[in-house]
Amino acid sequence: MSSLNKDLVSQLKELLTATRNILITTHYNPDGDALGSSLGLCHYLQLKGYSVKILVPNEYPDFLGWMPGNADMTVYSKNQNEGDTLIDWAEVIFCLDYNAIQRVNLFSDKLLKAKGIKVLVDHHLQPEPQFDLMFSLIETSSTSELVYDLICALGDQEVIEKNIAMCLYVGIMTDTGSFSFACNLPHTYEVVAELVRRGVDTEQVHRLVYDTYSEQRMRLLGYCLSEKLTVVKDCATAYIWLSKDDMKKFKVQPGDTEGIVNYALSIKGISFAAFFTEKPDKVRISFRSKGNFSVNDFSRDHFNGGGHRNAAGGETQLKMNETIELFTSLLPQYKARLQMAAHQSSFLQP
Ligand code: 5GP
Ligand code: MN
Repeated sequence: MSSLNKDLVSQLKELLTATRNILITTHYNPDGDALGSSLGLCHYLQLKGYSVKILVPNEYPDFLGWMPGNADMTVYSKNQNEGDTLIDWAEVIFCLDYNAIQRVNLFSDKLLKAKGIKVLVDHHLQPEPQFDLMFSLIETSSTSELVYDLICALGDQEVIEKNIAMCLYVGIMTDTGSFSFACNLPHTYEVVAELVRRGVDTEQVHRLVYDTYSEQRMRLLGYCLSEKLTVVKDCATAYIWLSKDDMKKFKVQPGDTEGIVNYALSIKGISFAAFFTEKPDKVRISFRSKGNFSVNDFSRDHFNGGGHRNAAGGETQLKMNETIELFTSLLPQYKARLQMAAHQSSFLQP
């Protein structure tokens, strides 16, 4: 069992005894863990008799649109009035899979002023002190694993039925890249074993999430790898960028670009990968790394972002070519560290 603070769990228990209306929120561009943890927690709280709603900032990819309860979520970008009403309605607001209120983006101001008690459940580094109760465990694979631990700590392991288990499994599977990173602790596998016992068909879930690419998405991936990949060998770095025109040409849908950055990182001798996409008013960046090179620090220091040590996001208000210039101009100062990270990742550590 992971080390959830007992006092905090007692405070949450007490808070929930005096509560009826609960809102669950998650970050902008919700991913598998954001949605899986939100839906898993929602099903649990509903089974406990609460009135529970989920508010997500914007739309999410189709490959995450099959989870039970998905149709009942409110998407703020499509239904702002309903979203605002829910924020006013909530007595308790769960904040899942983000470490700073600005990460919800579209309704952060509203959330900052909300009267509901804010309960953070998250695994990102350096959480902001903007929440009333904070379950922040950065060693945990995913927020979904944390939600599982929280339900157990509340004494309700037996309440976890198939739908809850399936949603939480999606979060753990996607945030660990199908158990390839952030999953070096036995506890993650103990949780997964329990979720399988409770009815998760892991093969089916994997198929539903990963074997549903459109033809366009596969062609986009091919284009990225053959035409748009740059390798800066002496800095153990590889990056890919896509312009607005590229995305138009491939009719890019939400989620189509997800995971492409990992291909750049999977090259032998590369310890740092970046993926740049041009948005109407900014350039959005995904960073990934191997070993002890922290992309959380790199993004915080240069690209207004953050995340985890080996997976982070960021953005600039610069043009694409200026963003790439900035990025490549920064690499030499990290050269020794990047080479070291590549070296250390290339053999079995004693
Ligand atoms: P992705 O590259 O998949 O968008 O994000 C990688 C990880 O970094 C995710 O865990 C995501 O939640 C986090 N992340 C992405 N963008 C930001 C950001 O702007 N700020 C912070 N603090 N975390 C981010
Ligand atoms: Mn997560």
